[in-house]
Amino acid sequence: MYQAFLIKYAEIGLKGNNRSYFEDCLVKQIRYSLHQVGDSFQVRKEPGRIFVECPEGYDYDDTVEAISRVFGVSEYCPVEICKSTEWNDILDACRSFVERNVPDKNTTFKVFCKRGDKNYPKESPEICADVGEYLINCFPELKVDVREPKLHFTVEVRGRVYIYTNAYPGPGGMPVGCNGKAMLLLSGGIDSPVAGYMIAKRGVYIDATYFHAPPYTSERALQKVIDLARIVSRYTGPIHLNVVNFTDIQMFIYDRCPHDELTILMRRYMMRIAERIATQYDCLGLVTGESIGQVASQTMQSLNTTNAVCTLPVYRPLIAFDKEDIVAISKKIGTYETSILPYEDCCTIYVAKHPVTKPIIKAMEKSEKLLADKIDEMIETALNTRQVIRIMPE
Ligand code: ATP
Ligand code: MG
Repeated sequence: MYQAFLIKYAEIGLKGNNRSYFEDCLVKQIRYSLHQVGDSFQVRKEPGRIFVECPEGYDYDDTVEAISRVFGVSEYCPVEICKSTEWNDILDACRSFVERNVPDKNTTFKVFCKRGDKNYPKESPEICADVGEYLINCFPELKVDVREPKLHFTVEVRGRVYIYTNAYPGPGGMPVGCNGKAMLLLSGGIDSPVAGYMIAKRGVYIDATYFHAPPYTSERALQKVIDLARIVSRYTGPIHLNVVNFTDIQMFIYDRCPHDELTILMRRYMMRIAERIATQYDCLGLVTGESIGQVASQTMQSLNTTNAVCTLPVYRPLIAFDKEDIVAISKKIGTYETSILPYEDCCTIYVAKHPVTKPIIKAMEKSEKLLADKIDEMIETALNTRQVIRIMPE
């Protein structure tokens, strides 16, 4: 059983003076994720690296799963730590590493050395040669292959000495929270949970808003959105899910406005309300799962028309993605099976047979005048009666 994990990060390493801010965010996120596995993990940083020291008897699979969900981790390596930096202790640790972790010794290897401590008395090439020779003496079946070794036997000499052979890919991206907060418009579909995942992967913390239209949308539709938010929160951390009752506004638009404009008008009110909630949470942008041309409400003209009602930037991480690419991500992150459950979404109930595909802002504004006597009050009611559900990762 490995004693620790060495965590490598990619993009944070490119930062200049503010690098330690990003490292601290990453440490915090790793701690948070591991907290769900156990309390006694020690997470600390060293220049260029983060180490997770594991308590006795920890669950390896759960630990790996928790680490591999943290954005900002580019690779993680299960490592053993030498008891001191004395040369004989290093050799001992190398031998016991192979004994314990390489079941089939009839394999090829090459020794790699990273010498973070530039004052260490031996230089890297010498460390590689001496460790290699020592291991061959201990395990005569092992063979050196400098071109295509099966085992990348790595010795990192820092304040302490670490040994590892395997590096597994992390999710990449930036640690959640290092890039501010945004409000995700979360529906029960395939796209918006993926959009939330993608924006969080760039370090953005998310809260969410869902427009619910009971009795036209059922409690099961709401439960589906809660379930999706919970899956997304495994990557993003806790989410405040704002559930807005949209029924009256939807009916009001339906009664007064041309039916082919319904979806666009509804989308404009959703954006306005989401923006109001977003400012209350200090969010610096809105996030949607829109993708150019996917449906009538996502043509360039439609996007332009819905965008026009917002002051905050609207981030659309899936804007240039094909549906099949979005589906592939949703399967990878585990939202797909929930997203395809059949419960209706509030937009589908009033969808016109032939919705406008090239709406014009002026025409939408004209239609919205038909709502002028009551709509402001209805928006306030929707905001004041919303329900906030605190979603915690499982
Ligand atoms: P999704 O798969 O995310 O539901 P969609 O293909 O169904 O998207 P639309 O219904 O046009 O597309 O919605 C576009 C975006 O608007 C969604 O990705 C989501 O961000 C937001 N949205 C749509 N309906 C709702 C809703 N009921 N509550 C909150 N946001 C919504
Ligand atoms: Mg939808």
